[in-house]
Amino acid sequence: MDAKGYYLMGEAEIEKVKLLPAKPRLLMHSCCGPCNSFPIEHLSPYFQLTLYFNNHNIYPYEEFVRRFEELKRYVEVFEKENDVKIELILPKYKDETFDKVLASRKDDREGQQRCKMCYSMRMQEAFKYAAAHDFDYMTTVMTISRQKDSVAINTIAERLQPQFPKVKYLYSNFKKNKGMDRSVQLSKIHNMYRQTYCGCIYSFEDMKNRKGIKEE
Ligand code: SF4
Repeated sequence: MDAKGYYLMGEAEIEKVKLLPAKPRLLMHSCCGPCNSFPIEHLSPYFQLTLYFNNHNIYPYEEFVRRFEELKRYVEVFEKENDVKIELILPKYKDETFDKVLASRKDDREGQQRCKMCYSMRMQEAFKYAAAHDFDYMTTVMTISRQKDSVAINTIAERLQPQFPKVKYLYSNFKKNKGMDRSVQLSKIHNMYRQTYCGCIYSFEDMKNRKGIKEE
C-alpha cells in the first residue's frame, strides 16, 4: 500500500471509533514533543491516550531526558487547556540489545536498513506493552516526520500485527492533511525544543559532521 492508502485506513478507523460509546485505550509510541503535538491534538478527542516513551536509540542520555521532559511539559499544558488526562510512561533507559543491533548497521545512511530495524524494535516493544496492559490500539507518532518513511513504518506494523491479535494497530500518516504544518505551528506556539538529529549515536555523529563540530 502507498502512503495515502495507510493514511486513509487510519482516518477510516478513527471514523469508526467516533461512533463508539466510550473512548478506546490507545498506546502511542512517542519520541519527542514536536512529533507528538499534532497526533495528540488529532487523536485525544476520540481515544484515551497513553504515551510510551520507549526510545533506547536516543544518544546521549542527557538528550533522552531533554526530549522526555519537553514532551512532559507539552502534555501538562495540553491536559490543562483541553481538560483531558494523558498518561505518560517512561520505560527504563537503556536496552543494550538495541545498541548491538544498530551497531551492526552503523554505516547505513539515515533512512536505510538501520532505521527500519530501529522503528521495528521500538514498535514491537510498544505492541508488547500494549498487549500486556490490555490496550485496544497501538500506534506510533513517527509517521509525522518528513525524514521517516511512513510506508516502511506502516508495513512493519502490518508485519507485527498478527503477533498481537488483541491490539489493533492504528495506521497513520500524521504529516498528511497539514499535520506536519500544524506540528510546526504548535512547536512555535509552545516554544518547544526541536532536536537537530534523529536520535542514535550515528545520527548524532552525522549531525556533528554536517555542522563541522570537532571533538576537543
Ligand atoms: S537515524 Fe533515527 S531512526 Fe535511524 S537508527 Fe538512528 S535513531 Fe533510529
